[in-house]
Amino acid sequence: MKAGIYQGIKQVSVEQRDKPAIGPKDLLIQVTYAGICGTDIGAYLHGGDAVGIYPGNEFGHEFVGIVDEVGGQVEGITKGMRLTINPTARRSTETSGMNTTEIADMTGAFSQYVFVENAKLNENVYLLPDTLKDEVAMLTEPLSVSMHAVNMANVKQGDKVLVYGAGTIGLAAVAALRSKGVTDIIVSDINDFKLGFAKKLGAIPFNSMEKSLPDFVKATWGTLTGNASEATWNADAVLDCAGAPHILKEYMDNAKTNSTFVEVAINMKPSELSLFWLLAKEVVLKGSRGYVPEDILQSIEALNSPDCRLKDIVTHTFSLDELPQAFETASDPNKAVKVAIKHG
Ligand SMILES: [Zn+2]
Repeated sequence: MKAGIYQGIKQVSVEQRDKPAIGPKDLLIQVTYAGICGTDIGAYLHGGDAVGIYPGNEFGHEFVGIVDEVGGQVEGITKGMRLTINPTARRSTETSGMNTTEIADMTGAFSQYVFVENAKLNENVYLLPDTLKDEVAMLTEPLSVSMHAVNMANVKQGDKVLVYGAGTIGLAAVAALRSKGVTDIIVSDINDFKLGFAKKLGAIPFNSMEKSLPDFVKATWGTLTGNASEATWNADAVLDCAGAPHILKEYMDNAKTNSTFVEVAINMKPSELSLFWLLAKEVVLKGSRGYVPEDILQSIEALNSPDCRLKDIVTHTFSLDELPQAFETASDPNKAVKVAIKHG
């Protein structure tokens, strides 16, 4: 089979590899569409050691495909079915000797075939409705990350939600919020190209480069008075899909009493936290890592809804042979949001 291989910084190639052999509990999937994730781009630009993408290995974890081979003991799945997977549960940590990040990030979505160990419906593999096209279903994995964050925020219809970051996860958060009936959404970023997509998806875009985000949120949704007589913004939940160190402080300084802050971005730099405001405002701070089966099922349902416009974030589609060019394009934040690889 053809396999997309990570070779190191600014180096990817397409090589011949053996088609994986499967056991009685396993599945072999022929990939139809794959997405390039921010994690893949990070490995391409800065190295992949931290996320388990090592030189010489297959990579890519966002994909859809068709069942090509089914082990004799696999239940409910037959050859030809269309599905996507939970890449973090693609293999067992014991038999592979890898952690879940390594298992996911070296799945091989840029290879023609992906092997799923111990395949179980609605655990590590998920069937797709006939009405959901492959090039849209390819977004299930990133949407599941955002769906998990939205579910952690416990939002309800009528809530006002501020999203930091207009990258794939921030934009997918807009789609996840809208699938739950939340329509008052502000997305803040410093990139106007990406903010254009936030607007298309139905959010209010705000460029925080030159103006104050707290002033804008207060002007748009009004102010409230908090427990220490402070003026707060009127956002019920805040999702950090950007990961800048100032965000937590900005939230604590302006947070509505009893609101929720969810961290979904990877931010290695420490942030300042006011314990006084934590007490006075009684806010909830949560971390959101990956997803659970319910998030994946909700994401498939959301993508299958005619109201969902998330497919608009796919800015480019390349063939597998064009993988190096696809990565060059995906690395330009002023040109690309989600880049797809069309197999076959
Ligand atoms: Zn991803």
